[in-house]
Amino acid sequence: MKKLIAGNWKMNGSLSANAALVQALLDDTSDWACDVAVCVPPVYLAQVQSLVQGSVLGLGAQDLSTQEAGAFTGEVSAAMLKDFGVRYCIVGHSERRQYHQESDATVALKAQRALAAGITPIVCVGETLAQREAGLTEEVVKRQLAAVVHTNGHCISEIVLAYEPVWAIGTGKTASPQEAQQVHHVLRSQLQAASQHADRVRILYGGSMNASNAAALLAQPDIDGGLIGGAALQAAAFLSIVAAAH
Ligand code: PEP
Repeated sequence: MKKLIAGNWKMNGSLSANAALVQALLDDTSDWACDVAVCVPPVYLAQVQSLVQGSVLGLGAQDLSTQEAGAFTGEVSAAMLKDFGVRYCIVGHSERRQYHQESDATVALKAQRALAAGITPIVCVGETLAQREAGLTEEVVKRQLAAVVHTNGHCISEIVLAYEPVWAIGTGKTASPQEAQQVHHVLRSQLQAASQHADRVRILYGGSMNASNAAALLAQPDIDGGLIGGAALQAAAFLSIVAAAH
């Protein structure tokens, strides 16, 4: 399966920095053997859409509303994202679960909204350090995925899943390739029980993936790409992860 490397810019960027970063990525596209996308803050969707137009670099968002339209101040709907050529939307990132109290049910609904608009949700699951140390990793990620499966039924094969151990995000600590593979295998089995097309779901790893650890992680049988935070802000670092994905 073709791997996917998606950058999550989080709340970073400026018009000038985005233009330079995207241009550096576009200069490299002829070497890409995988799908590549950047998930940008909503105010920069129009800018980045015009920069990537006609290229293989995909455009993504970082969140969307559970609601279709109306009196929801500050929210951005799936249809609005679609208007700007958005192909992917991260849902349930641990920072949203933690700082915005997003529940499993909310994340599942957001995934449903994205799918209904023709946007591929990148659904994030992952355990905290305390949960890992208590031996709860599998239980936590299975519960998080089960909500999305329950709400989205047979459409589940249309999502991208991202395993992001919370303790590895932005910390410089990475799950070892074996630790990550073990969880990816559990997630794959859960998807297989829900859909006969589960084998086409890309399961990304996220959490301090960088130029030096990407190849070993991406060599695991159930790791189908990466969701990249910090390293996605520097073209050289991001492109070396892209080069490791084939
Ligand atoms: C992320 O935000 O999804 C992420 C994986 O961040 P980082 O690569 O910085 O750990």
